Amino acid sequence: MSGGSLDGTAAEPCALCDIKLLHEACLSHYLRTCYNDRPVFSPTSPYLLAMSLPPLVGHRETRRRLARSVRAGTLPQVLLFTGPTGVGKQRLALWLAQLVLCERGGDEPCGTCRACRLVEGLAHADLHWFVPVLRPKAGDADKQVEEVAETIAGVMEERRKRPLYTAPDGMAIHSIATVRLMQRRMALTSVEGGRRVFIVGEADRLVPQESSPEAANATLKLLEEPPVGALIVLTTLDPRRVLPTIRSRAAPVRLNRLSDDEVRGFLAQHTEPRWGREKIEERVALASGSIGAALSEGEDAGKAYRSAEQLLAAVVEGRGAALERALGQATFAARGDFAAMLDALAETLGEAARGTMGQPVRRSVPAPLLRHRSPGPLLLAMEKVAEAREAAAGNVNPQVLLAVLGEDLAEVL
Ligand SMILES: [Zn+2]
Repeated sequence: MSGGSLDGTAAEPCALCDIKLLHEACLSHYLRTCYNDRPVFSPTSPYLLAMSLPPLVGHRETRRRLARSVRAGTLPQVLLFTGPTGVGKQRLALWLAQLVLCERGGDEPCGTCRACRLVEGLAHADLHWFVPVLRPKAGDADKQVEEVAETIAGVMEERRKRPLYTAPDGMAIHSIATVRLMQRRMALTSVEGGRRVFIVGEADRLVPQESSPEAANATLKLLEEPPVGALIVLTTLDPRRVLPTIRSRAAPVRLNRLSDDEVRGFLAQHTEPRWGREKIEERVALASGSIGAALSEGEDAGKAYRSAEQLLAAVVEGRGAALERALGQATFAARGDFAAMLDALAETLGEAARGTMGQPVRRSVPAPLLRHRSPGPLLLAMEKVAEAREAAAGNVNPQVLLAVLGEDLAEVL
């Protein structure tokens, strides 16, 4: 393992402790000792000054509530943040991490103490942020864990450089290897001596049932009996997409859409290069209160929604020639494209379901879908899409999956 600290001193990797943890520690350039008290890198202040997180926007009432529970010592150990894509669920989780790790304490993280700065630089040794990544390629289970640890460390390094990230690849998941990595990290003690925070972004991509039941049980055990002092924050777009066993063990925290003003203000200050007024207004109008949507509303997202709409339009016409044609025409060069289309499909169906309940529809939805008198068939269709989504994470050919899904949807819609 290589990597020099910023002040040019190199350190010996520890032969006794988990080498990947050490590797990650050297990425953060400040850990003084490894888990076996061997010297690693001397602290280097320039790195601590790096502020990489964009500011948290909105959710003031939720922040107040969370801060109150932190102060009162009543914050549940496992939380599930739910809410629309791009409203800052993981950003709020990082804010909460900063709040509980802050050396000063208060209603907001102070932002200036060492712990606060380390969190902002995504470099706090007791903050573990798990993001979905592509399924590891290694054959051996231990190697898979190492591969996932390295991939996630790479994502973190990328986020330190470009803090405004867009949605991960549609095929990215939390595989068994990620669960094992989580287990290993949770088994360790606090490096800084305080609390430890584990953030699991897009927890609906957790697929512990894929192989060994031990791993599934391990996940549940982690949530059922989290280690003392550990705080686990899971985030998801829709709590129904999270495994019920996980959902039942977490205290829900619902986040709402941001106001247009909040989105506008963020775009005006944090886009690089700065966006003009016209572009900002255009994106705000499309974003429905989501900074993530405002940032990513581009070609790719548009393509996925168009494919989803075409498929749904063909499906509601029945099983005839139109559906055959739609299924024949849709080809997906990359698995990620296919997964993105499935996400767009689920989202469009969700909008239609809202429409049938008399709520405003924020995306274009094929009109026949709105003729259903209840959301039932649409929710059933969403379940079918979720099943396909799960199968897509395996090795099933997208074309085959799509044909089956097309049939399934034609049946329920
Ligand atoms: Zn602080």
